[in-house]
Amino acid sequence: MMCLRPLCLILLASCTVLAGCSRSDALQQILADSELVVVSRNSPTTYYLDKSGAAGFEHDLAQLFADDLGVELQMDTAYSLGGIFRRLNRKEAHIAAAGLSLTNARSAQFAHSMPYANLIPRVIYRTGKRKPSGLDDLQDLQLVVLAGSSHEQTLQDLQAAAWPELTWESVRGADTMELLERVDSGDADIAVIDSNEFRMQHSLYSRLDVAFNLGDEQDMVWYFPPGRAYTTLVERADAFLATILADGRLTKLREEHFGHNTVLSRVGSHVFARNIRGKLPVYRDLIRQVAVEYKLDWHLLAAIAYQESHWDPEATSHTGVRGMMMLTGPTAREMGVKDRLDPLQSLRGGARYLKDMRRRLPADIAEPDRTWMALAAYNMGLAHLEDARALTERRGGDPHVWSDVMENLPLLQKREHYSTTRYGYARGRQAASFVQNIRHYYSILQWKDMSASQPGQPLNPLDFLPEAVRNERFLAL
Ligand code: GLU
Repeated sequence: MMCLRPLCLILLASCTVLAGCSRSDALQQILADSELVVVSRNSPTTYYLDKSGAAGFEHDLAQLFADDLGVELQMDTAYSLGGIFRRLNRKEAHIAAAGLSLTNARSAQFAHSMPYANLIPRVIYRTGKRKPSGLDDLQDLQLVVLAGSSHEQTLQDLQAAAWPELTWESVRGADTMELLERVDSGDADIAVIDSNEFRMQHSLYSRLDVAFNLGDEQDMVWYFPPGRAYTTLVERADAFLATILADGRLTKLREEHFGHNTVLSRVGSHVFARNIRGKLPVYRDLIRQVAVEYKLDWHLLAAIAYQESHWDPEATSHTGVRGMMMLTGPTAREMGVKDRLDPLQSLRGGARYLKDMRRRLPADIAEPDRTWMALAAYNMGLAHLEDARALTERRGGDPHVWSDVMENLPLLQKREHYSTTRYGYARGRQAASFVQNIRHYYSILQWKDMSASQPGQPLNPLDFLPEAVRNERFLAL
């Protein structure tokens, strides 16, 4: 460390001589300041904060680059795609990393890196409605795209070329959830979004599907501010991306974030039924034992473990959560879990964590809503849940009632709402669906047990679903 300081002084001195490092060489400046500033956007495919801290594909990739440079990463967020490029233009960030497609218009203005992923623009519609099969079918439909997106540009080009009748609405924002919601609710007919964005959110909107692809594959790239000062940074970024492409780290990261289907494969009651027969008997006694220790209903603990890992004690996710109860490293440490892959320890850690959440909620939230809210906090962190409750109250709902809070959770993904909260953007829709899924599994497990103890009684599983769950669409993760 000692020898770094004189080096910094020399760099700073030479920067002054050259009238400002930012104008002479951005890479040197980053190294001298020991800080890489990356502008991104909040969305499930790019960057967000969850209970384990900063997460998302773009965050993780930028973190690898910052580590490679040996500097700190500072992630900034813009609220729209236009905002990202405005920041670059003003040189307020060194890199824009936000699931951005390579387009001619953008590359005429900004330098960019080599591609590190590929995207296919998808035309999304709601099943049950007429499925458009090509551009001609889009002319009298209501289309939505993100304002400033590559898809908006594509539509402009198509309109100018041969489809003058094509119209669309450009929605200002940074998260494509808004678009999917519009199509899901029937507010719009079609959304155009990237393949990875749809893949990641499809399970939350099971009625939506791909109609066709709007054009060819696009490259995903980082963009840099304009000017010669950024040339060495671009070169360094390309060298880094080429290295992690060659050594397999990039493929692994892509796989972890976009490639796997473990989340989607949890869907489906037939899989659940199969696991109740095949896997549950192996872990039932262990789950029961821990439930007794922590005074929990064992069906609830079993339902959480199923939602978390499919009762797989060796489950691992890209965000570093592991084990039967998918605990993060810090949570496991806090809960005294030494080996997260040991199912007994994992179940104990999860049970303790849930009880902890339940205890920390305000005293005036009654059961069973208290448990549902504790589960939401278990998934997204207590701070974000408290934001959702405050938002619920402000919007005239009751912050003590789960169904009211659940309705407001997805708003934590919308700028006009999360910009008014204390802890900002959060994957609220996912947290709501996490809780609803557990309630669904919980009811089925209770029903199974009841029907087994009363063999003569014809029982209808629907009778055991809580009213709220029965009336809600099954939100599958
Ligand atoms: N890849 C898109 C772009 O660069 C943003 C994401 C989307 O609109 O689906 O504009």
